[in-house]
Amino acid sequence: MGTISDKVLVCSSLKEALISVYGKDVSVEKKQAVHGGDANDAYKLCLSNGEALFLKSNSISNADLFRAEAEGVGALMSTGTIRVPHIYAYGKDDGYSFILMELIERSVPKKDFWEKLGTGLVAMHKADTSSFVTDGKYGLDKDNYIGTGKQKNTPNSSWIEFFSECRLRPQFELASRYFDGSFIRKINWILDNLDRFLFEPEKPSLLHGDLWAGNFMSDETGQPMLIDPAVYVGCSEADIAMTELFGGFDRKFYDAYFKAMGAIPGYEDRRDLYNLYHLTNHLNLFGSSYLSAVVRTIEKYS
Ligand code: ADP
Repeated sequence: MGTISDKVLVCSSLKEALISVYGKDVSVEKKQAVHGGDANDAYKLCLSNGEALFLKSNSISNADLFRAEAEGVGALMSTGTIRVPHIYAYGKDDGYSFILMELIERSVPKKDFWEKLGTGLVAMHKADTSSFVTDGKYGLDKDNYIGTGKQKNTPNSSWIEFFSECRLRPQFELASRYFDGSFIRKINWILDNLDRFLFEPEKPSLLHGDLWAGNFMSDETGQPMLIDPAVYVGCSEADIAMTELFGGFDRKFYDAYFKAMGAIPGYEDRRDLYNLYHLTNHLNLFGSSYLSAVVRTIEKYS
């Protein structure tokens, strides 16, 4: 590849972004749609200089999604643990917003893929978090997104309070039209009694935040990569819980993760409560097909 800046640039056109990556005018010869995401349009861009890059686009009004994605990927990258794509630029063009990044050509996972993903995630969860949340222990210095939903990250010194006020409560408020008065009382009981179920972690962890099977990849060498995070500092169990929500992670991943991290008794009892955040977010983003799972989980804990 030509000269590449290692800074993420905020650009006012895709053309400007490409010039800043290669130092000269390069045009897009072919734009191939890439499927698999759930929030944005995604493309492989084949360029006039023979190189290829990965582009995601959305409407102008959703431009902040890409600011947040660039910062989130930057946070994961700064831990020097699991590989993430290099982000070159994000910004707005005529009628759309975009993020431009390194194109990863998928390949068959290596034999130790799952072990590497598990131990890599432990290293990420053990990384120092002090630069991500300067005025508190949990949260993040800026709000970001979970899918296209807003994710509040107001720093808090208590994980339990953070999970209540920045994770569950905002989602329940958005979903309130689905619930009647007696059900709202159950929700409020859960919010008031979270300390019966959750604990304050010994150490905060930088979380991927949206760790479902669509958000890891096997890179050109068959090694794991993480994409499309919704980072914040929280309890490591919240990331592991999400890997179990929709499945797709091999047993070897969990064996490697828990061997290196150590399991805290009672995780299975907390898992669904952590995933209630994602289920309610799915209810808010994608509609009532998620309602029965949300209701079941609230019944279980109330
Ligand atoms: P969305 O933001 O819409 O959820 P994703 O970030 O999940 O989109 O990306 C959509 C799909 O594009 C992914 O499922 C993955 O297959 C592919 N993808 C994501 N990042 C890259 C990349 N840097 N290089 C190549 N393919 C990628």
